[in-house]
Amino acid sequence: MNWQQRDKQVIWHPYTQHQSSQLPITIVRGEGTCLFDEYGNKYIDAISSWWVNIHGHSHPYIAQKVYEQFCTLEHSIFAGFTHPPAITLAERLLAILPNNQQKVFYSDNGSTAVEVALKMAIQYWVNRGEKRPKILALKNAYHGDTFGAMAVSGRSAFTQAFDELLFDVEFIDLPTAENLESLKSKVYSLRSQLAAFIFEPLVQGAAGMVMYEAALLDELLQHCKQCNIITIADEVMTGFGRTGKLFAMHHVHQQPDIMCLSKGITGGVMALGVTTCSEPIFEAFLSSDYTKTLFHGHSFTANPLACAAALASLDLLLADTCTTQIAGISTRHTAYKAKLESNKAVAQVRTLGTILAIELKSDETTNYFNSMRDKCAAFFIPKGILLRPLGNIIYVIPPYCITEQELDAVYTAIDEFITFVID
Ligand code: PMP
Repeated sequence: MNWQQRDKQVIWHPYTQHQSSQLPITIVRGEGTCLFDEYGNKYIDAISSWWVNIHGHSHPYIAQKVYEQFCTLEHSIFAGFTHPPAITLAERLLAILPNNQQKVFYSDNGSTAVEVALKMAIQYWVNRGEKRPKILALKNAYHGDTFGAMAVSGRSAFTQAFDELLFDVEFIDLPTAENLESLKSKVYSLRSQLAAFIFEPLVQGAAGMVMYEAALLDELLQHCKQCNIITIADEVMTGFGRTGKLFAMHHVHQQPDIMCLSKGITGGVMALGVTTCSEPIFEAFLSSDYTKTLFHGHSFTANPLACAAALASLDLLLADTCTTQIAGISTRHTAYKAKLESNKAVAQVRTLGTILAIELKSDETTNYFNSMRDKCAAFFIPKGILLRPLGNIIYVIPPYCITEQELDAVYTAIDEFITFVID
């Protein structure tokens, strides 16, 4: 039996119908921007393996630091115990996050970072003796696959089987210049019930890299603050340079009360979740009354190997080379966007920092299950390019180390797809 046949017998892949005849590609090696399969075929990872990888695969510096940590301490309980990588990472993160962020809570992925944030916000009000039973979120949001994260995400085929079990959430449209005042009135009228407002700042990833204006987000956040609603910035996708700044919240003036981080935090090499919060949030849990405790702790909370990977990734991220790489991708995306905009097959092109999204015209109701998705996968993989469109939206989110030639190859393949497949 080969790898694919063995895989099919024992593995249940995410986002794949189990009976699908499509065989998964067996990746055996990664280097720089590329993944290599068992036959030596090379794929440019133009989506950073689900948006996580920022410095390239199997990065020797991160590998060395994780190895050194492994030889020293691979894991220890984090309740009542601590360790240097977790402390140093917390200090270094707080130094680069919006400066009201004062405490770091570790977990182990993006969904759990969101769960922790929601629990912090809800219990904040409970601990203060106030009843704030509802959460406010943006329509079509995606915050993860656990139950709380699903509840604050847009209702879709992804959540359908569980909809009755998800707690009630107030959803509002993305802010636009036209609707901002009506959104503000809605928030105002609901203010006494709302524990928190959770949002993906500036870019809604899974919705199709949908972007909205920083100035509008700023105004909405300011309004939430005036209404005394806790704000939660889910930077799981946008964090660590993705939007051209270290964090998307650096594009706005308002500071969130709570932030969620994951994906690129370790350079995308290991699972780690982080929820940070301001001092007032933390203080609401300080009490001799044990019922005020935030009872949340995963076995692998603050895993030292993941923390070591994150520290190594930060070293690389904060170096001038990486800043130049991010700026370079951003400039090239902007130029490519200008070129594509006149293409009659293209409905809209969006870009921010290292993120590029090309929405293709389609007669189908445009959603995740648009047939363009399968056409696209079949087209790019034989060309050695890993792109995984969201319905009729092709997006590029490369590792920052992508070379000019590799990025050219991605753009050229997209051009060919638009010309030969769509036209
Ligand atoms: N929040 C956002 C904004 C995300 O994009 C994602 C994952 N795509 C998550 C949360 C969930 O992260 P994870 O897959 O690590 O659970």
